[in-house]
Amino acid sequence: MHFSEVTGQALAKQGLLNLWHSGKLPHALMITGKEGTGGLALALALTQYIFCEQKGDQDSCGHCAGCTKVQKLAHPDLHISFPSIPPKPGVKASSKVYMGEFREFVQQSPYGSTFDWLQFINAENKQGNITAEECRDIIETLNMTAFEGGYKVQLIWRPEYLGKEGNILLKLIEEPPQQTLIFMIAEETEDVLNTILSRTQQVNLLPLTVAEITDALVTRNQADPRRAAQAAQLAEGSYSNALQLLNYTGSDLLLPLREWFNGVFTHNGITVNKWVEDMGKTGREQQKNFLLFTQQLLGHALRMTLIPGYVPSLPEDEAAFAGKLAQRNFAPEIYEKIDEAINKTIYHIERNAHSRTQLLYLSLQVQYLIQGQELKVFA
Ligand SMILES: [Zn+2]
Repeated sequence: MHFSEVTGQALAKQGLLNLWHSGKLPHALMITGKEGTGGLALALALTQYIFCEQKGDQDSCGHCAGCTKVQKLAHPDLHISFPSIPPKPGVKASSKVYMGEFREFVQQSPYGSTFDWLQFINAENKQGNITAEECRDIIETLNMTAFEGGYKVQLIWRPEYLGKEGNILLKLIEEPPQQTLIFMIAEETEDVLNTILSRTQQVNLLPLTVAEITDALVTRNQADPRRAAQAAQLAEGSYSNALQLLNYTGSDLLLPLREWFNGVFTHNGITVNKWVEDMGKTGREQQKNFLLFTQQLLGHALRMTLIPGYVPSLPEDEAAFAGKLAQRNFAPEIYEKIDEAINKTIYHIERNAHSRTQLLYLSLQVQYLIQGQELKVFA
């Protein structure tokens, strides 16, 4: 992986390159970022840069022997540990057993979550783990001479899964052998042993911006630009969330929103019922995404109402739609109540309530709210 292939994270990339160029790259790094922000991708780009035989100032060459071996996760001086499960009863979990699968997983989804990974190896409801044996193995391996005479790099993806066994590694992390680098990639430092945290230098990753995610979806996943923008807006800074949204969201979300609001705003029961029927046929994830999308657009419309000159960062037709809503000058309380009603609907849909009933009830609530009334329920 090139640095240029890592989405966003410009500050972290430059910081790491600066440390390398000044000869101050610490021997133990903790790269922390929420799922889908690219911790593993960044660690792999740094590793490739270190092993690259013809590196430039800013990136690895991508075609030398060093680069090629890292790309295949097959460099003899690159060691990787990650959560795994016992391959069969009576046999301990070990990264070595799953190395082939891990290579495949990283090829397919370098931004994949631990959950995705455990699904990938059919862990079902088994908890992943990095065992005490594996920790001892890491110490032994890193104490051997490098195969190629240069650096040895140990990646630990998700040190959260070390549990207290991680204490076995303390001495190694504190005083690693010559030319040995340990990069850990965490999602939540809260779940990493303090004894490990205090011995590593932290690199914190930011959530990705909507623009960064949109760009990645369009250029890497050949997503349709407007669907990419919609998924990016809902992804909470995570590339993997955005990819999932893209998969779940079968189609453009603005179309059903238009149809729904047309029905609701003109009190057209037939249109609303048709919308409820159509939306009810889609899956719960799609319904949830649609409602989240609606909340976002309403948020923009409210800002357009309140802030003169506010320009939403939305595709043109979505911005125009939000603009039309804003022209109606609804009071902020109305937006607030609609938002609340949508939250409740999402809550119930997530808990397997009958979605058509929920969507119809929501439609009625919105219809009342925009007339400055509240729907009274006898219950
Ligand atoms: Zn290279």
